Amino acid sequence: MLPSPVPADPGPDEDLAWLDRDPERESWLDRAREHEEPPEPDEYEDYAVLTSDELTEEELAETEDAAADELLAVEAASTGRRGPGQPGSARVFPGESSSPAAAFGPGMAFDVMPGCAQLAVAADAAAGGDRFAGVSEAELVGVMCAWDRVEAHAAARKLAVVAELSRRNPGPEDAEFTADQVACALAESRWRADELLGTAGHLDTHLPGTNAALRDGTVSLGKARIIAAATSLLDAAEAAAAEAEAGVLDRAAALTPGGLRAAIARAVMKAAPDKARKRRETAVKFARVERWAEDSGNAALMGRELPPDEVLACDERICWWAGELKKAGLEGSMDELRARSYLDLILNKDSRPQPAGGPQPAGGRPGTPGAGSAPAGFAARVTLTAPLGTLEDRADRPGELAGLGPVDPWLARDLATAAAQNPKSTWCVTVTDEKGHAVGHGCARPEPRRHRKRAGPGPPGGAGFSFTPVSRDAPPGGYGTWRLRTPGPGPDLIITLESLATDPCDHRHQAKGHDPGARLRHLAQVRHATCTSPVCRRPAAQCDHEHNIPYEAGGRSCLCNTGPKCRHDHRLKQHPKWTVNQLPDGTFQWTTPAGRTYTTEPTRYPI
Ligand SMILES: [Zn+2]
Ligand SMILES: [Zn+2]
Ligand SMILES: [Zn+2]
Repeated sequence: MLPSPVPADPGPDEDLAWLDRDPERESWLDRAREHEEPPEPDEYEDYAVLTSDELTEEELAETEDAAADELLAVEAASTGRRGPGQPGSARVFPGESSSPAAAFGPGMAFDVMPGCAQLAVAADAAAGGDRFAGVSEAELVGVMCAWDRVEAHAAARKLAVVAELSRRNPGPEDAEFTADQVACALAESRWRADELLGTAGHLDTHLPGTNAALRDGTVSLGKARIIAAATSLLDAAEAAAAEAEAGVLDRAAALTPGGLRAAIARAVMKAAPDKARKRRETAVKFARVERWAEDSGNAALMGRELPPDEVLACDERICWWAGELKKAGLEGSMDELRARSYLDLILNKDSRPQPAGGPQPAGGRPGTPGAGSAPAGFAARVTLTAPLGTLEDRADRPGELAGLGPVDPWLARDLATAAAQNPKSTWCVTVTDEKGHAVGHGCARPEPRRHRKRAGPGPPGGAGFSFTPVSRDAPPGGYGTWRLRTPGPGPDLIITLESLATDPCDHRHQAKGHDPGARLRHLAQVRHATCTSPVCRRPAAQCDHEHNIPYEAGGRSCLCNTGPKCRHDHRLKQHPKWTVNQLPDGTFQWTTPAGRTYTTEPTRYPI
């Protein structure tokens, strides 16, 4: 590896608004709106962890023996382990670690064991007191993950009991009061008990895969509830199809709650697009603005069930005015400035610091937020991604609004058609492989004026999108030059599709110097639409463009050595105890101080 001088610290991140929001907190807020007695945010998750007597020494020795037998077999799974003596290194050589938690090291027997009562017993025995004497950091992480799986397992077992109680009371006159029985036994509110019964029943009858994953501890209770909520409107076959969709359960263990929420929403829109649309349209009736007192003594104001395009337009406007406030010298983080801007816009106020002395011109200062000086429309700055089949009306597959999440096919078509009316909209076409990873890309340019002779009438139905090769002899493999016709008044668009392959890389997109330039930055953002940390979903457009091997150390400014990282994760990468590798296929591999490895694949686009 090239010697890498430590690059300058990129500085702290100012804007935390894109960090993943906490869905538990959000759903708790939902309920808090509706109920006088809001449940504690964590009361539901607070499952009693299995208790057990400590293992006798003999039992412990047996357990460790059993684990040691498997050590060699699982060694292959223990990727990313770092050698002894390195910072954060875990001494986890099979059979050599004398730690009481040796079997919890990366890839070891208890590190890969599904959640179960036996795992709880072993994890309890591995503690060696509450300070985990002799346990390495990598093993400690393994014990933590083991308890996480045990917790999920316990939750699954509890829900199975609840489902059985419900099955034993099928008659309507009994069923109505099953929740009361549960509420009395658990000293929960009736409403909580009702919800518990609902989740238990839905997992039992509609979501066999999620139920099994919860039992094994692959997904937590929180994630299982996200899947249950998203599929609540589907029948059993549709729900099972949605959870079986690629990218949901197979990735649920690695996705953050926000990522899982988007993945299951997309799967639901694929499994039952009509129902997804109906739900959106019905929910419009519940549009509202809510206010409540924060625990701190401040207040909150929130709009719910609003049209997605207008929410994005509002967000743009809030950011625009926050930028004006910052330019005018108002102090505060971007979050604080956006909050100020939000109030300014609603109250038609101007919070820019007053210039010292001088009188105020009558009628307010020029450029106040109410003066209509914000750029009109939003289309040019919002990224809508939609399968061509959806736009061409050949298929009903969901699209995606950057920064907001999946949108059903009808909304995707409406938004694309609206964008086509806006001459400022720009169009790109991304070719994906079967996983949805970007493998080719082209940015549209208007057809040169002298060529603008529409090649015959538009597609059947007139006003839609169409995408056709410019010439018959377009190069094979889907690349070459294409014509995109949009429903708007604009001219046809010409798109030249180029490969994004970096395995191996022919460095066709390499920039000359350190600076990536607009094109390479754009292509890197196409490949990774969000920060390349495994747990961050900040849009790439708000990230630093980062060289994996520093430019100064000989790293290329090319797609094969660069990618987006938010400021926080840029700094994290520079921490000497963390290691990040960029693999040829665009995967980023993060190795933590405890020697565990986590990967980020390129963005999966809707396909
Ligand atoms: Zn493009
Ligand atoms: Zn390259
Ligand atoms: Zn990040």
